[in-house]
Amino acid sequence: MIVDISRCENCRSCFLAVKDEHIGNDFPGYAAPQPAHGHNWVDIEIKERGRLPIVEANFMPVMCNHCDDAPCMKAAIDGAVSKRADGIVIIDPKKSKGQKQIVDACPYGAVYWNEAEQIPQAWIFDAHLLDQGWTKPRVEASCPTGVFRSIKVEDQAMQRLTEQEGLEVLQPECGTKPRVYYKNLHLMTQCFVAGSVVVNVAGIEECAEDAEVILKQNDSEVARATTDIFGEFKIDKVKKNSGQYELEVSSDSSGSVSMQFDLGDESLYLGTMTLALEVHGTH
Ligand code: SF4
Ligand code: SF4
Repeated sequence: MIVDISRCENCRSCFLAVKDEHIGNDFPGYAAPQPAHGHNWVDIEIKERGRLPIVEANFMPVMCNHCDDAPCMKAAIDGAVSKRADGIVIIDPKKSKGQKQIVDACPYGAVYWNEAEQIPQAWIFDAHLLDQGWTKPRVEASCPTGVFRSIKVEDQAMQRLTEQEGLEVLQPECGTKPRVYYKNLHLMTQCFVAGSVVVNVAGIEECAEDAEVILKQNDSEVARATTDIFGEFKIDKVKKNSGQYELEVSSDSSGSVSMQFDLGDESLYLGTMTLALEVHGTH
């Protein structure tokens, strides 16, 4: 499954589709009914970045990652969790009874405990529907903006796609080899640095379009951008807590301005910077 974070609008149609599919419905061998409350087998995480006037809200659907090296499978006894040939991980609704350790084993918090049934439950990738001939799971069918793309390809082809599209998995340091890949994950995990650039023209503040913005760290260029028609710029994919930076803004006709800042764990709007021509001393 490939999930493009830049396309998600937080409409929660996918979230509801999973509830519609599972609440009150029993799929023997796949999943027992989901309780009416408290389980979010597919959930949406929210991340705000920046502040007015350059601010954004990003949304990321999260669910069972159908890991190839799944800790939930290792924690299960009596083969209660298994991986199918197509990669889908299934927690058997009968064999898993009483096995709360399966919930704790998942580093993604993707497994929910069904108190009434005393079983662990997670999103089953709609394996029951795929086995009936469906070509895509309901989250994908219900999403109006094309966030989800489920594909069935060999590992090598997936590797190529990962490189071509810059796909990433969640918490790769866990070594679980997830089968849910994210596109544009930086919208949730990295920072941007933004600002507005103006110039004084005959006493009036004007937006400085086409000014060159260079971000430097330890005197080396890290990234660059050009201001837009509103004099605004945004440099994205800057690592959180990455220390001190210098920002230089210049325009051939209007002069330059620079500033220093420290980047913590949140994106920064640096405010309004005013370009000025260098004033040389007179005698
Ligand atoms: S995301 Fe959690 S529940 Fe799903 S396969 Fe991986 S470890 Fe198991
Ligand atoms: S249906 Fe699509 S756009 Fe709506 S919340 Fe889910 S992933 Fe996001």
